[in-house]
Amino acid sequence: MTTRDVILPGATLGVLGGGQLGRMFVHAAQSMGYATAVLDPDPASPAGLVSHHHLKADYLDAAALAELAKLCAAFTTEFENVPAQALDALAITRPVAPAGAAVLVCQDRALEKAHFVASGVPCAPHALIETPEQLAAISDDLLPGILKTARLGYDGKGQVRVKTRAELAQAWDELKRVPCLLEKMLPLDFEVSVIVARGRDGQIVHFPVQHNLHRDGILAVTTVPAPGVSEALSKQVINAAQTLAASLNYVGVLCVEFFILQDGSLVANEMAPRPHNSGHHTIDACDVSQFEMQVRAMTRLPLVAPQLHSPCFMLNLLGDLWFDDAAPTVQREPDWAAVLALPGTHLHLYGKTDARRARKMGHLTVTGATADLARDVALKSAAILGIESF
Ligand code: ATP
Ligand code: MG
Repeated sequence: MTTRDVILPGATLGVLGGGQLGRMFVHAAQSMGYATAVLDPDPASPAGLVSHHHLKADYLDAAALAELAKLCAAFTTEFENVPAQALDALAITRPVAPAGAAVLVCQDRALEKAHFVASGVPCAPHALIETPEQLAAISDDLLPGILKTARLGYDGKGQVRVKTRAELAQAWDELKRVPCLLEKMLPLDFEVSVIVARGRDGQIVHFPVQHNLHRDGILAVTTVPAPGVSEALSKQVINAAQTLAASLNYVGVLCVEFFILQDGSLVANEMAPRPHNSGHHTIDACDVSQFEMQVRAMTRLPLVAPQLHSPCFMLNLLGDLWFDDAAPTVQREPDWAAVLALPGTHLHLYGKTDARRARKMGHLTVTGATADLARDVALKSAAILGIESF
């Protein structure tokens, strides 16, 4: 790589999607001296609110894409459901990381599973259901299972757990008979994820493996270092993620979620072609955050192996915390002052004014000199905020 290829601070970086991941990308880019442009139709989008430029248009709006191409030196995405065509259109004149082709695989559970199989990474037994014939041909071995829409699912949405063929047929009707994937329900011991960043030259770095606790299909708590993960298992997780990134010829930040089954085996669940909720702790607990890594990968700055400098816990702050069971319709502000009085707490709120149940409003990272100290403060914070203990 020549230094001429590097896109230096002072340039404008574009991001498709204006959610909290885009907002934290914008923060990282700006702190390194870049200007930013966000494409998101929502005038109140968390990233749009803090960006130099905010184009409030649809992702396929030709005029908006042309204006972005004029403004920006390079592009990334914060949202896997951005149409891959939008990334492809921008890639005609500017570097785009990740590429539309890689995002396309992560957008579709059937393509994603095929990529796991082709890369030799174990995944849950599954079958595609697009037609009544495919539904009828489902093997009983896949039950009980989880029926998942092939596209546009997140935070457990677009998923139905089914035990029998009758329930499966009913669930497919409920999901409007869109293309779905039936996955066998696996006996999970726990869940982990890992974030890797891959450069255009093929160099790969990774963050430490993260332990993730989900509640109602939504990430609740991430713990790093991941308890219960041996050195050998950690290597296996990192190798699998690196293999998946390399075989996609991926450039950028990629998160891979895994299940650890009760027999100790490792199964890939899904990939996100962007920074991930389970990597938010990297802002406060690592020397390079996942968002800075996204900036480095898209601008072709060097990627360095990130180091965790503090054990940590990340608690998601869902809209539920803004409501009291005694007065369920009145929005109140959680007691941030009490939480911030505790040592090692780092509050991140995404600028969303309308709290709704299950909506991701922010996160709290707790760092400590030891995992036990961090855990103690995280549990106290959870108690103050009304988050279920863990
Ligand atoms: P995300 O917000 O991570 O994109 P999603 O809606 O795409 O979530 P998945 O990651 O597919 O959902 O599933 C959500 C959770 O449901 C998983 O983290 C896991 O706890 C559980 N789950 C999903 N698939 C299986 C399975 N095959 N066997 C057992 N549990 C599963
Ligand atoms: Mg998931």
